[in-house]
Amino acid sequence: MSTIAFIGLGNMGGPMARNLVKACRTVRVFDLNEQAVQSLAEAGAFACNSVCGAVAGADVVITMLPAGKHVRALYLGGEGIIQTVASDTLLIDCSTIDAGSAVAVAEAAAERGLEFVDAPVSGGTAGAAAGTLTFICGGSNAGFDAARPVLELMGANIFHAGGHGAGQVAKICNNMLLSVLMVGTSEALQLGRHHGLDPKVLSEIMKVSSGGNWTLEKYNPCPGVMEAAPASNGYQGGFMVDLMAKDLGLAMETAGQSGSATPMGALAASLYRMHAAAGNGGRDFSSIFEQFEKDA
Ligand code: NAD
Repeated sequence: MSTIAFIGLGNMGGPMARNLVKACRTVRVFDLNEQAVQSLAEAGAFACNSVCGAVAGADVVITMLPAGKHVRALYLGGEGIIQTVASDTLLIDCSTIDAGSAVAVAEAAAERGLEFVDAPVSGGTAGAAAGTLTFICGGSNAGFDAARPVLELMGANIFHAGGHGAGQVAKICNNMLLSVLMVGTSEALQLGRHHGLDPKVLSEIMKVSSGGNWTLEKYNPCPGVMEAAPASNGYQGGFMVDLMAKDLGLAMETAGQSGSATPMGALAASLYRMHAAAGNGGRDFSSIFEQFEKDA
């Protein structure tokens, strides 16, 4: 049975690695945060104290890191993962990063004859915990076919979007749309509240009406409407405002490259930058709801 190295045990990587352990895989874990490593070790993973230590002897390496600079730093260079692993190791990066970085890492991997798959995810921390994530892959057919059985241990939908970097482009399109839906849902719920409506009732109405969308179904931004949503937990955990602002920056960069018009994405990017600058960077992205309070 394959040995999997998992690096980056944050809000997403932690529960994803846990699901690999539950599926009885040998999982070697590393994170800069010792507590995160300890918690996975208690769940049955092998704690490692460096990236090199984690990837040694692994058949598959999975990374789940904040941004492109972290991914490039870990994979590239003389002491990077690409130069360290055995020549038949499959490399899978699940972080949301710029397509250019994914292509650069894939090209460096190919020079060593290694398959690299960009496999960003959708489904949030709840999907990561439940093992129902959507994986959006970019890479060769051979890389995708090899990655699929491993990704199936953590997700319910596995897509092959195209060549290297295509997974990242598709993921960025999705997150740009998600941000627009979250902002729109927040302002609609606040408008209703300001007119005395119960946000729970309004949410139920809109959920089954033409305004229905994923944020209403799975991630209501109004505290108290949905018990399991970050909004009902002080906007802790979930998907950080800083990460959404990063993704919207990537979306704007990607739109610039193709000369695409993305006015709604640009507005959402601006709102999330403003929200982050107001000290909300570490809170869940549904906290944008507070920007539409009457006295905000
Ligand atoms: P996070 O900040 O909670 O976790 C990132 C982890 O990477 C941290 O534990 C950090 O210590 C670790 N790390 C950073 N540099 C490292 C290094 N050099 N070596 C080892 N570990 C290192 O972020 P997250 O919410 O888990 O998101 C991870 C990625 O997934 C991001 O790219 C994000 O955009 C994407 N994503 C997040 C969500 C979500 O709902 N949180 C959903 C979909 C996609």
